[in-house]
Amino acid sequence: MYAINHASTALLLRKKDSNLPLLPLLISVQLVEILWVLFSYLGWEHFSISGGKVHLDFLPYSHSLFSGVVAAALSFCIVNWGFKNRRLAIAVAIGVISHVIIDMVFHEKDIRLSPFSDRPVMGLGIIDYPILNFIIEFAYGIFCWWYFKGSRRLLWVIVIFNVLDLPMMLAQGYMLNPFITYPFLLPSVILFQILITWYFVFRYARMKNEP
Ligand SMILES: [Zn+2]
Repeated sequence: MYAINHASTALLLRKKDSNLPLLPLLISVQLVEILWVLFSYLGWEHFSISGGKVHLDFLPYSHSLFSGVVAAALSFCIVNWGFKNRRLAIAVAIGVISHVIIDMVFHEKDIRLSPFSDRPVMGLGIIDYPILNFIIEFAYGIFCWWYFKGSRRLLWVIVIFNVLDLPMMLAQGYMLNPFITYPFLLPSVILFQILITWYFVFRYARMKNEP
């Protein structure tokens, strides 16, 4: 799933309890992806490009069910005992694990149960059907906005970033050459998407009552 729709998950968590601050929720839903960016820069995880498509060959430390549960549990402990906020701790833990669960729907079979065994691998592979991928993600983002009862500007943010994802979803063949030549480019693009969608969702989600 692309950054804007992971970020939209934070809107679901925010609506559940309107006293929860949005920023930690936005961080929680992308924590796993931030780890992937970091691990990719460090060379601990890697992707490849073959058959004209990007494959996330090796990402068991950031994106496995086990590491998602561990990251969620650690986040819970930090927020619960460090910041003394149990409700936020529960929401943040759900946010962290939501990322892995949602990615299992969209990814190819590349999400392991744990980093300790290379089987089984999970992933429904919706990413292999770009138009279907676009429609499902777009509908999910709109649903999060509707559930949150967001402003019209927030709706535009979700619509525009989803449309901007289309070229990435449809990219194939020679269009992916820059990512082969410069391996740091893909994690950098993903990091940029995370940061910019955080900014715009944070900014416009706070103006709830605006028409
Ligand atoms: Zn991910």
